[in-house]
Amino acid sequence: MTGDSVSDRPGATGSGTEAETATNAPAESGGDPLLTVEDVSQSFGDVEVLDGLSFDVERGSVVCVVGSNGSGKTTALRVVAGLLAPDGGEVRIASDSERPVGYLPQTPAFHPQFTVAETLTFYGRLAGTGVDVDAKLSTVGLQSVPDRRAGALSGGMTRLLGIAQATIGDPPLLVLDEPSSGLDPAMVEHISSVIGRIADDGSAVLLATHNIGAVYQMADRVLVLDDGHVVAAGSPDDLIDETGTETLDAALADLIERSGAGGAVSVASGGDEA
Ligand code: ADP
Repeated sequence: MTGDSVSDRPGATGSGTEAETATNAPAESGGDPLLTVEDVSQSFGDVEVLDGLSFDVERGSVVCVVGSNGSGKTTALRVVAGLLAPDGGEVRIASDSERPVGYLPQTPAFHPQFTVAETLTFYGRLAGTGVDVDAKLSTVGLQSVPDRRAGALSGGMTRLLGIAQATIGDPPLLVLDEPSSGLDPAMVEHISSVIGRIADDGSAVLLATHNIGAVYQMADRVLVLDDGHVVAAGSPDDLIDETGTETLDAALADLIERSGAGGAVSVASGGDEA
């Protein structure tokens, strides 16, 4: 599979055609979910950040976690990625892969002197696995810059290298924290299409983002987080229909307001606990 190549020319990333493949197709279901998060709680000092967090993620689907600042998105992703042991509850990943989860932090940082290709080779060694560097770079659209030093990459390219790094060892679940925040619209579209293709190839993607346009483009399911738990869940169109709004932005604002006013919001098509 060959992805679009990212160049330095503004607006040269992504293509309409490929972006269209990363749409809201229903997740393939059948069998157990890949990821099950059950009644997870997490406090820092006396601040309860996650409280009864429960949801699941199907194989090959893109699930976007949205919510206000401080609602617990990063904490939830760190728990799922195994970087933080929760105070209570359970996280189960139904896979016997040696590397079940790949993680992209909010601000990925690489050794500035390593080239793009060297960076992936280095992380492959760390993970104890071989890496087909050309294939990884093609997947994210960095195939034209294998020899560029990581320190000379743009913010968008750094995120793409981070996504490529997260896919090392072909984990069945990718956890991406704000993969497109602060990037220009063309790069956001490119990253969204990269994520859609990764899911089409079989990995599930769980990501947090504030970029609601990208959510509409990518998400099979949206989890609305408030006060450390899921207050609504469903496909973007389900959430719009359910709230009687016109846009996903308006639907999410409505759901968060309703949850604040009266506790959990019931959205029919979820199956997630609210
Ligand atoms: P979000 O990603 O939705 O903005 P976070 O999960 O980053 O939310 O943070 C939720 C809350 O938890 C915030 O109030 C934040 O200050 C607090 N928090 C997160 N990590 C820590 C930590 N390591 N120590 C103390 N407080 C933390």
